[in-house]
Amino acid sequence: MAGKIEKSDAEWRKQLSPEQYRVTREKGTERPFTGAYWDFNENGVYKCVGCGAELFSSEHKFDAGCGWPSYFKPLAADNLENDTDKSHGMTRVEVHCKKCGAHMGHLFDDGPAPTGQRYCINSASLKFEKK
Ligand code: FE
Repeated sequence: MAGKIEKSDAEWRKQLSPEQYRVTREKGTERPFTGAYWDFNENGVYKCVGCGAELFSSEHKFDAGCGWPSYFKPLAADNLENDTDKSHGMTRVEVHCKKCGAHMGHLFDDGPAPTGQRYCINSASLKFEKK
């Protein structure tokens, strides 16, 4: 993937909605069962709302019952990066876009076969494109 995207806080605020800004730039979490994609099953690609990188596919989406869109694997693992998140008294694996740093959500190891992974992602971090 091409070089990283660096934007000022003001530029991100201008580009994103307040909720998209809060989630992607401040590592926020949308309330479950409120986002655009937790109950959404069209075929296509989920892009980063910050930079348009293709991050997830409807082919890997599953209903985890948690109120956030969930995927058992990313479209290309190389487009994502992980961090350790020790907030809220838990140790979790944080997931963000490698290109623009947008916070996506968290990665858990209780997903379905074949990967056993569960990418629990905020709808506010994604932009769906029908294929
Ligand atoms: Fe991005």
